[in-house]
Amino acid sequence: MIDHLRRATTRALDAALPAACVGCGSEGPSLCRECAPALDGRLEAPAGVAIGLPGDLPAPLLQLDWCAPFSGAVRSALHAIKYAGEQRLAEPLGAAVARRWARIGVGADLVTHVPVHAARARTRGYDQAELIARVAARHLGLPYATLVTRERATIAQFDLDRSDRAANVAGAFVAGPDRGDRPVGHWVLLVDDVVTTGATLAACAEALERAGALGTSAITVARER
Ligand SMILES: [Zn+2]
Repeated sequence: MIDHLRRATTRALDAALPAACVGCGSEGPSLCRECAPALDGRLEAPAGVAIGLPGDLPAPLLQLDWCAPFSGAVRSALHAIKYAGEQRLAEPLGAAVARRWARIGVGADLVTHVPVHAARARTRGYDQAELIARVAARHLGLPYATLVTRERATIAQFDLDRSDRAANVAGAFVAGPDRGDRPVGHWVLLVDDVVTTGATLAACAEALERAGALGTSAITVARER
């Protein structure tokens, strides 16, 4: 009920107020020309955690990368698409994911997203990671498919430490027949809005590989440390 009220209020505000930048509040597009470059904060940086390199790459991910630090306009944009109904931000966020992946990505032939639980997508009216992933796929010229479902609602990861995070999401995801398209024989690029430890991405990748994916790489808009 609260969510419905919030969404109705957001829509009413959208209609009543001129569009403004979520980063600085200036009138105009949802991310202005001054704030948008923050999304490319790591465009020139070496690949985040790549194949064959030591580091905290959670198995079975082949690669894990992100576009920008979780701060400033990037943080505001992610908050706005997740909680304030700013679906228009999917375009700049997805385009940034595509730009970063085009620089550092190794392989992957099919794009998908880390799903929220269906109940949450229903109350929000959309799944922000899906919107971002679809835009990224279009910019990369790769097909998009819904491959994974979240079978179990999980508690918010930010309240948990590293090992509890892994336990919280283990087995939460299912991929394969009757759960959307099949990942069989594909190297999947998994897209999400934010990564912290990578436990959620790894749990998704495990589900994809149980369902026949050859491998899974992951990219997010931001990394929260
Ligand atoms: Zn701005």
